[in-house]
Amino acid sequence: MANGFDARLQTQFINTLWWHNNPYLLYKMVKLKINMNYEEAYNKALKVKWKVEPCFSGEECWCRLIVPDEPINYGPDNLEEVYIVSSASINRKMAEYIVNIHNQFINNEK
Ligand SMILES: [Zn+2]
Repeated sequence: MANGFDARLQTQFINTLWWHNNPYLLYKMVKLKINMNYEEAYNKALKVKWKVEPCFSGEECWCRLIVPDEPINYGPDNLEEVYIVSSASINRKMAEYIVNIHNQFINNEK
């Protein structure tokens, strides 16, 4: 019986240790705190430079994406990404025009 009790305590102890030393759980906990939500991510996007990128069809496609210079991710798993303008919305000329104006504005703010 004493052995059974010890074993249970030991299991509890190991579980506690596992929980506190588990790098994956710690990583998840830290990440949940750091991750931005939708609003924070899009507010941040207004303050950074943008760039024009080809869509997934490549350079030959008429459309262009507008994305933040550095990707901005958000959401519980940080898998959502900010797109200023997604595919099939504007052509290259318009995209470059908007990005130039935005980036000049950002430069003037600094
Ligand atoms: Zn396209």
